[in-house]
Amino acid sequence: MIRHVIREVRADLIASPVQTGFQDATRKVETVGMCVIRVNTDQGLTGIGVTYHEVGGEAIKEMIERYYGPKLIGRDPFETEEIWEELFHYARGVGRKGLSFCALSAVDIALWDLKGKIMDLPLYRLLGGNKKKVPVYASGGWTSYDDDALVAEALEMVRRGYKMIKLKVGVEGGRNIRRDTQRCRKVREAIGPDIGFMVDANNAFHSGDAVRLANEIREYDILFFEEPVFADDIPGLRRFRQGTDIPLGTGEHEYTRYGARDLILGEAVDYLQMDVTRCGGITEMLKVIALSQAWNLAFAPHAMEHIHMHLVSAAANGAFLERLFLFEDITAMVFKDAPVPEEGILTIPDKPGLGLELNSEFLR
Ligand SMILES: [Mg+2]
Repeated sequence: MIRHVIREVRADLIASPVQTGFQDATRKVETVGMCVIRVNTDQGLTGIGVTYHEVGGEAIKEMIERYYGPKLIGRDPFETEEIWEELFHYARGVGRKGLSFCALSAVDIALWDLKGKIMDLPLYRLLGGNKKKVPVYASGGWTSYDDDALVAEALEMVRRGYKMIKLKVGVEGGRNIRRDTQRCRKVREAIGPDIGFMVDANNAFHSGDAVRLANEIREYDILFFEEPVFADDIPGLRRFRQGTDIPLGTGEHEYTRYGARDLILGEAVDYLQMDVTRCGGITEMLKVIALSQAWNLAFAPHAMEHIHMHLVSAAANGAFLERLFLFEDITAMVFKDAPVPEEGILTIPDKPGLGLELNSEFLR
C-alpha cells in the first residue's frame, strides 16, 4: 500500500439564510450552513469532512485553517487516534465542546474519508459493517406552523415514502400542553396507525410538564420523545424517564465519550442521538457507540444522514437515521451525488470513504 502524507488542508463555509424563519420551542432558525473541509495528500487523494452550524461558522473555518489544519501537514491519515488526542489536548483549555469541537469533528471525518479512499473501501465496510440499506425518518414539523401546515407536512413525509416521522412539540415556548396534545392527535389521525411517530421538544419543558405532556400523548403511540428538558438537565431527563414509558431520545447537544458517559450513568437516555459532526468525529463516535452498546441502548444519531449512514450501518445497535427537511436544499447543493432516501431507506453508495463528492463549482 502506498503511504500517503497530508500536504494541504482547506475549509469552505456555506451559509444560507432561512427566509421563512422556522421556529422550534426554544429558538428561531435564521441560518443553516455547513463548513466543508478538504484534506489533500501528496498522492493526489482528497478527504472530505463536514460539520454544520446555525451560528458561528466563521469561527469553525478559522479554527480549522489556522489551528488544526497546520498540525496535519506531513502526517499519515491513518494516525487518527494519535491526531485526535493531540488536537484534543492542543485546544482543551478553550474547546472541549462547542464550535471548536465542530471543527475537530470535521477534521477527523476527513481523515476517515481518506482512510476509506486509500483502502478503496466504503467507510461502513472499513468500520466492519455490511448493510447497504439504512432506515431513515423524516424530521420537521416546526412549532411555528399552524395546525394545517403541520398536518400537511406530516402527510407529505408519508407521501414521500417515510415510515417514521418526527415533529416538534413545545408550542408557545412550551407553555401550552393542551395545544401540543391537540396537534399530536391531529397528526396521528392524519397519518394513520402504521407510521412511526416521534416528537422533539428542543429543551422546552421542565420535567414535570414534560411528563404531563408525555402522558397526554401516550395514546398516539409515540416511538420516542426527544429533548423534553434542557439538554444539560440530566436529573430532569431522569425524572422524565421515571414518569413515562415513552422512550427518551437525547444527545444531539453532547460532546465526546464523557458526555455520553454522563447521560448513561444519569439514566437519562434510551435513544442516544449524538452527532458525529459535533461530538468528535468518527474516532470519538466509535467509543460513544461502544458505551451505548455496553448499556444496551439504541444508537440513533442526530441529522447529517450522509455521514451517519456508515455508522448506523456498522453499529449492531444502530437504529435509524434522521433526515431534516430543513437541510435538504443545502445538502443537494454541497454534494453532487448525495443519496436520497426511497421508501424511507437510504442506500449507501458503492464508493470508497464517505462515498460523497463535493460540488466544487458550487463551492467556488
Ligand atoms: Mg432534535
